This record gives sequence, structure tokens and C-alpha cells, in this order.
Amino acid sequence: MRKILHIDLDAFFASVEQRDNPELRGKSVLVGGKPSERGVVAAASYEARRFGVHSAMPMKTAVRMCPEAVIVPSRIDHYREISREIRAIFFQYTDLVEPVAYDECYLDVTQNKHSIPYATEVAKAIKADICSQLSLTASAGVAGNKFLAKIASDMDKPNGLFVIKPHQVEAFLENLPVKKIWGVGPVTEKRLHEMDIETIGQLREISLEVLSREFGKVGGDFYHLARGVDDRPVDPCDDRKSISRETTFAADLFAVEQMKVEIQQLSENVAQFLESEGLKGRTVTLKVRYPNLTIRTRSQTLLAGINDKATIARTAIDLLAKTQAQSLGVRLLGVGVSHWDEENPLQLRLFE
Ligand SMILES: [Mg+2]
Repeated sequence: MRKILHIDLDAFFASVEQRDNPELRGKSVLVGGKPSERGVVAAASYEARRFGVHSAMPMKTAVRMCPEAVIVPSRIDHYREISREIRAIFFQYTDLVEPVAYDECYLDVTQNKHSIPYATEVAKAIKADICSQLSLTASAGVAGNKFLAKIASDMDKPNGLFVIKPHQVEAFLENLPVKKIWGVGPVTEKRLHEMDIETIGQLREISLEVLSREFGKVGGDFYHLARGVDDRPVDPCDDRKSISRETTFAADLFAVEQMKVEIQQLSENVAQFLESEGLKGRTVTLKVRYPNLTIRTRSQTLLAGINDKATIARTAIDLLAKTQAQSLGVRLLGVGVSHWDEENPLQLRLFE
């Protein structure tokens, strides 16, 4: 039995701003760009969230919903530095730390450096360290694998600690929506709903054979994840030459508009990871697999390194026009960024 933690700082950017500036404590804080400059909310404090504001929302909309909000510009370099300090705490417990974002990591604490027998106790100790050393709060999910730990960390926010024990797995997953399953994006979710599958419990009633027929290889993943089975290791590897994300679709996609939606989602995931690693890349690559299973890639190299979602998505969508996706349809789409910008001071590796 592995012991996996998913640790996620609470409203990270906003909490850092409130920590550093006492005048902001207890107030609705929105970190991000100005509404007049088409800014987007990078993080919202819990006070602001009560008004329905959330990250990725246009700042203009957020201010309309929460007029009392104080807007604070992002200080990415500062957050990255704190992110390193948080990871330094994790490394005191285990070397198996896999970063997902600035404020999110998986930890395998099965064999931890302090020989603490219970993962829950490790999570408590880490949360206490983050609080005492950095004056920030984190939520922790404790479970036997990454899939469950990630869902768990979200159950009890902020300052949460949620444990899923092996005998609780089945009941815990029963009524969760299918979109909680990894790999279930908007298109797959819609297809599952068409099959009258709304919850993970309902998904569990579908045989492996049917899921594989409907969704291909990922159908097998759905089958296992619905049962709380996930063997993926916590991967501390940091020598990535490129960052990419891809999705295989349940049913071949023929509508270009839908392909664009998927590309935007993939670009957002890639951008989040690049930003969390302080990386900018100059080459954007789009990968497509046609229904006849042939794979094609198209790349575009830009003049300067980028890591923002909008530029990655725009470039990938331009590349889509250079494929036969519109006439043949696609079974898989992938978006990647590579060719790290050597001149870029942001290229600070996290494990140095
Ligand atoms: Mg967070």
C-alpha cells in the first residue's frame, strides 16, 4: 500500500498578498491584471470567493460581482520563490515530490525521512511547518494513490486535511460527478451524459469491454479510476525537454469549434505547468491523430519564449489549419511547448 499526499496551498497568490500586507487581511483580494486592461483573476481570496468570484474570470466581471474587492498586481517571481520554500519543506520529508503547479505537489511518503508510520501524521506535520515557517495554510489529501489524493485535498478547503482509507474508496467515489475522473474533459463528459452516466458509481456499472469500445484506451483508465485504482507513480523527474498534454477522444471529433475548445484546455494545462516551473519555450507543437490512426505533428517556432495560455492556444489553433483535421476529423489532440528560452531569466529550475 502506497501513502500518497496531494498538498495544495489555499488561494495561494491571494494568501501571500494578505500575509505580506496586513491591510489586506480579511478583505476581498483579487490578484491579477486591471479591469481596464482586460485583466484576468489569477487568484481570489476566500473573502472574494463568497461573491462567486473565481480564478480565470475576467477582472471586469469579478469587480462587478464584488465591488469592494482590492485588486493587487501579480508578483510571479515572489510566488515562485515562496513555492521553492514550500518544496524545501516537502524535501525534508521525502525526495519523491512531483510538482503540478506553484502551489500544488504530490508526495510519496510511503518511506519518509522521519519514518513516520501514518501518512496523516506526515500531512499534519507538513501543514504545521508551512504554517509556522511561511504563515500560509495548505490543504492536504491523503490516500493510496495520486487520483484519490488529489480529489481528497479539495474536499475540506481551506486548511483542510482529508483522508480516504482503502475501505472508504468505493463509497467515497459513488456520488462524485464523472468529470472528477482524469481524462474526462468537456467532450467525454457530454458523451458519458448521453449514456446516462452522471456519477462515478454509475460509471462503475459499465463493463471494461463497453468502456474500451466506446472510449478506446482511455476507457480502460476510466474503468480502473472509477474503482479508485491508479498505479501512476509520483514522478520527481525534472529534466523535461518539452512539456505537452494530450487527450484521446471518446468519439472522433469532426467539429473544428470543438477541436478549438480542446486545444484551449490543453494549452491552459501546458501553460500552468510552464509557469509553475518558471519555463518559457519558443516552439509550439500540435499533435493530431486522425481516425485512421496516423499521427501528424506541426510546429511553429516563435521569436521569443512564451508560457501564456493565450499565445500557446492561438499558435496551436493556427497549426490546426495546417493539418487535415477539418476534413478527416481527429481522435487525439496534443499541445506541447519546447525549445527553452536560454536567455530567459525565468528559466530557474526548481530542483537545483
Ligand atoms: Mg491552491
